[in-house]
Amino acid sequence: MPAQGSAEELSHSPIVSMAAPFGLGLSDHNLVETSVAATPLARPGFSSAVVTTLPSPLPHMRSAWIEKRQGQANVTQLHYARAGVVTEEMAHVARREKLPESLVREEVARGRMIIPANINHPNLEPMAIGIASSCKVNANIGASPNASDINEELEKLHLAVKYGADTVMDLSTGGVNLDEVRTAIIQASPVPIGTVPVYQALESVHGSIEKLSEDDFLHIIEKHCQQGVDYQTIHAGLLIEHLPKVKGRLTGIVSRGGGILAQWMLYHHRQNPLYTRFDDICEIFKRYDCTFSLGDSLRPGCLHDASDEAQLAELKTLGELTRRAWKHDVQVMVEGPGHVPMDQIEFNVRKQMEECSEAPFYVLGPLVTDIAPGYDHITSAIGAAMAGWYGTAMLCYVTPKEHLGLPNPEDVRNGLIAYKIAAHAADIARHRPGARDRDDELSRARYAFDWNKQFDLSLDPERAREYHDETLPADIYKQAEFCSMCGPKHCPMQTKITDADLEGLEQVLAEQATADRKAQQVG
Ligand code: SF4
Repeated sequence: MPAQGSAEELSHSPIVSMAAPFGLGLSDHNLVETSVAATPLARPGFSSAVVTTLPSPLPHMRSAWIEKRQGQANVTQLHYARAGVVTEEMAHVARREKLPESLVREEVARGRMIIPANINHPNLEPMAIGIASSCKVNANIGASPNASDINEELEKLHLAVKYGADTVMDLSTGGVNLDEVRTAIIQASPVPIGTVPVYQALESVHGSIEKLSEDDFLHIIEKHCQQGVDYQTIHAGLLIEHLPKVKGRLTGIVSRGGGILAQWMLYHHRQNPLYTRFDDICEIFKRYDCTFSLGDSLRPGCLHDASDEAQLAELKTLGELTRRAWKHDVQVMVEGPGHVPMDQIEFNVRKQMEECSEAPFYVLGPLVTDIAPGYDHITSAIGAAMAGWYGTAMLCYVTPKEHLGLPNPEDVRNGLIAYKIAAHAADIARHRPGARDRDDELSRARYAFDWNKQFDLSLDPERAREYHDETLPADIYKQAEFCSMCGPKHCPMQTKITDADLEGLEQVLAEQATADRKAQQVG
């Protein structure tokens, strides 16, 4: 029996049962009338136009809300929720998620829901990540020293938002002015932006681990807060005593940020500065309402390494840090693996809930097999759908280029659609109210051969239309009672069986049964 108000009680994930009492079907912006609706990016999945130009600056929907909080020492949503205040952000989230405001406040106060919303990101449309709300999807973008520029990153941001990303992480590591790219992305983004500050910390000392000081880390973390970053991956759970546990792994440490911290500890023979200075980071975060995304430096990079001692030791520390951040009223979500066989996914979700006191879980994939480079948006979307079903709050997308190269805009599109499918499938399996409405509407359009409506209701209308028109491009075929799959003479959906037909059949069968009984009695 779960404890009253526990995540299990709220989630009704297959850990307990398969229905959830809360949440709305789709978290897409297309279901919400907000400032975002005024931009070309507003209707992911419903727009028929590919975004090729940058949008005009977004309206600052939060400016007046934030203004009132000026001068306060702690401006986090968690702080206000614990004080009994329903902020404008919480009220907005309640409308988006079709949840009572009181429940949103209670969930935020409990730490089981987060609203990543830096006070320096006024054009953000507030959203929620947590077990009581719909399953969310994150898209990673970012320039590397080898490829990409600021315009391409903005194009990826726009595509990500267009195709339904709920949050976007800027993982730029070089090749551009990192501050300029980050500022441009935040100013253009209606969704929360996440970053991994250790990349820039290393960049700030020209890649020299030996020169990297504790203060360098904190300086970059505060800079990201000032710029308006809504959540930061902080690899504070990796302790020096965890490192020997990596022995015997096939792929060692695969987290970029975790690798930097490991090198730092190996060089300096000192504890992880993000751990020792964790309370200082909390002090910074509460001034901006930046949310922790506690990084899993020891996530498995292959199936062989999944759920091993190193991963679970770090998870325990992430639980300790979650509760420490909560003492400062700072919001937290916890990152998870990675590469996990299907039969270990439930265990991983359950374990995170236990160790981290039900703070929202944010998983990368997980990939359920290692043998499909070029198709890892598929191998990981399978694991992501299962993780979402078991109660994971946000899924970090994986693109087809995973393990192979920097994703281009088309990879962003393919990765995101795969993950929108996974998150939506999880919402349906958890029986979130209204989750299946769009599916049913599309099915009605399909049965009525309303091709245009079918395209419009698709997660990727352009792709659906393109595939249909490959063989039957003429307008006349938009009313055709067939497609090129079975052809005009063999489309089984042409056979329309009405309820009246079936009721007539029921009557005939009943009459036959009565006649048979009578015949048996006479015999
Ligand atoms: S022709 Fe076949 S594939 Fe096409 S709509 Fe009819 S049943 Fe579906």
